[in-house]
Amino acid sequence: MFNALIVNKNDEGKTSAEITRIGLDDLPAGEVTVAVEYSTVNYKDGLCLGPGGGLVRNYPHVPGIDFAGTVEASDDPRYKAGDKVVLTGWRVGEAHWGGYAQKARVKADWLVPLPAGLDTRRAMAVGTAGLTAMLAVMALEDHGIKGGPVLVTGAAGGVGSVATAILAGLGHEVAAVTGRPETADYLTSLGATQIVAREDLNETTKRPLEAETWAGCVDAVGGEMLARVLGQMKYGASVSAVGLAGGAGLPATVIPFLLRGVNLLGIDSVMQPYDNRLRAWGRIAKDLPMDKLEAMVQPATLSDLPALGRDILKGQIKGRVVVDVNA
Ligand code: NDP
Repeated sequence: MFNALIVNKNDEGKTSAEITRIGLDDLPAGEVTVAVEYSTVNYKDGLCLGPGGGLVRNYPHVPGIDFAGTVEASDDPRYKAGDKVVLTGWRVGEAHWGGYAQKARVKADWLVPLPAGLDTRRAMAVGTAGLTAMLAVMALEDHGIKGGPVLVTGAAGGVGSVATAILAGLGHEVAAVTGRPETADYLTSLGATQIVAREDLNETTKRPLEAETWAGCVDAVGGEMLARVLGQMKYGASVSAVGLAGGAGLPATVIPFLLRGVNLLGIDSVMQPYDNRLRAWGRIAKDLPMDKLEAMVQPATLSDLPALGRDILKGQIKGRVVVDVNA
């Protein structure tokens, strides 16, 4: 028997989460059983832990969209007991039981072997948010990062923190947008060279184009901020659009695309094929300064999760929450 955070929904549609003792027979079908060591709190986890159940597709449910641990048993020749693995995406924690338990059973195709240089705790300090940040940076690189500062929005959050550290580690000048001035020292410690106040980019303008300022952008916020940023990109520069923490609407014009050749690149970490995930995890192990990763970590346990889910939806988490499911 082992611990799992089980979310249930009652007849009135109200959800509740409780740490429960369950057995291996309770786990969903899959080729690989993993002894989970760490999971995290991502924005989607906040939604799944919230009152309506967010993206959860079946009840009872174990949320947790990512985890890292050690293979305990495998019916797939690619994995054997003792292998260290990491999982992100594939609707785990939404349609299939996820990482908020001491054991998980999943399809072998969803796993990636842990690259050298990362242990399970560091892999979850990166987690889905960090993998997404790496995919966003790789997309900018594929389209060419122009000379000058690269903007990161939602910088003190999970995706933003990792994107800031990766870009700075690669030698780029990083301008970090935050609505929390008290995180300026933290963002500078991750390598940001410029702090931009959220309200400076939230103010709407009637001008579709402004001074060419940013050589690239990793955007975790969307909404009005993304619309404003599009008009400030350098000629031919790219924006990796990752998230919608500031809203799903996009009140923009086509002018930045027509007159400045701006590229808007959509980033999806969920259905990434194995080879892409492997390449991105390899780049994380190589290019993400590990001392900076440590500075982002907030440790947590399974019992902290309901409160942390509420915090992330309010944009109040700094960096990355790492959940030790065995604590
Ligand atoms: P976090 O909550 O950790 O970070 C989001 C940050 O956005 C906040 O910390 C805050 O940063 C800023 N923010 C929050 N609300 C607002 C607002 N109303 N206006 C402007 N800025 C705001 O979340 P994550 O970093 O984990 O995720 C960020 C987004 O990326 C989410 O929408 C998430 O769903 C998405 N995502 C997408 C993935 C993909 O595959 N495409 C994968 C992972 C995440 P600050 O305080 O610095 O201003």
